[in-house]
Amino acid sequence: MLTVNAYAAPSATEPLVPTTIERRDLGPHDVLIDIRFSGICHSDIHTARSEWGPTTYPIVVGHEIAGVVREVGPEVTKFAVGDRVGVGCMVDSCRECDNCRKGLEQYCLKGNIGTYGAVGRDGQPTQGGYSQAIVVVDDFVLRIPDGIELDAAAPLLCAGITTYSPLRHWNAGPGKRVAVVGMGGLGHMAVKLAHAMGAEVTVLSQSLKKQEDGLRLGADHYFATSDEETFTRLAGSFDLIVNTVSAKIDLDAYLRLLAVDGTLVNVGAPEEPLSVAAFSLIPARRSFAGSMIGGIAETQEMLDFCAEKGIGAEIEVIGAEKINEAYERVLASDVRYRFVIDASTF
Ligand SMILES: [Zn+2]
Ligand SMILES: [Zn+2]
Repeated sequence: MLTVNAYAAPSATEPLVPTTIERRDLGPHDVLIDIRFSGICHSDIHTARSEWGPTTYPIVVGHEIAGVVREVGPEVTKFAVGDRVGVGCMVDSCRECDNCRKGLEQYCLKGNIGTYGAVGRDGQPTQGGYSQAIVVVDDFVLRIPDGIELDAAAPLLCAGITTYSPLRHWNAGPGKRVAVVGMGGLGHMAVKLAHAMGAEVTVLSQSLKKQEDGLRLGADHYFATSDEETFTRLAGSFDLIVNTVSAKIDLDAYLRLLAVDGTLVNVGAPEEPLSVAAFSLIPARRSFAGSMIGGIAETQEMLDFCAEKGIGAEIEVIGAEKINEAYERVLASDVRYRFVIDASTF
């Protein structure tokens, strides 16, 4: 066993504190990764605070992990010591069900094994990326191409793939009009990726505060949703809307912005159920959909695409002692656009 420094939430109501955790001895297919950077995802906060159901404490969250291979198990052939690698939201799945066999491990019929807050194959609770090192089975380790800095790569492992997968699935590309709702951690990645895929990109944000950034990151248009006229002016004008907002929004108003056969896909996860009027869908054969991260092969494809296009996340690097403060800033939307923890400070 390897003892490593980490930051853990001791309960739903206390701040995260420094601690140590054990990482398992390397199995034949395991990779030991020295973590260099760990992104702060909104899901980390929900989980640390038991907002998505009861969490088992103490918990080390973090599923946007970028680092370097320190050691590999005897049967690992895909990775070698010194390789730049990443780990995202899952560290294993059954690998046998129909979905796993199709490369859709995120939709594993037995449930994928989350990077934190789950129980691994060894029966131990999984602990995430707010730590100095992690052991992950080789099939769930991603290669980070040289073209991306490790700090800017970390958020790609959740925010990047969460937006890349639906953009690909619904064919964002030349001639497609894509709207991104929300200009936060997920939204800013959706803008960069949809633009790089060749789509015409519109940001729908509450205000025009981040308009300059949005246009710089690749948006062609930027509208404030606080302005009622936005919904009149843009009616029927998008092929795909990616909703990254986790607060409850007026879905019917957004659905009416879709053209015939358009899709509104939700990647943000509000706590309360959403309601949709059937007549927001029927008159234009519209779809309302959801999407969750991406499979391992698709995540690798996303990283390679980002390297080719020179895309990384817009980040603010912090030391571990600033995590609790960063959480408050994330909740206040006061980050442009992702916090990344320097793992040497754990
Ligand atoms: Zn996440
Ligand atoms: Zn499976």
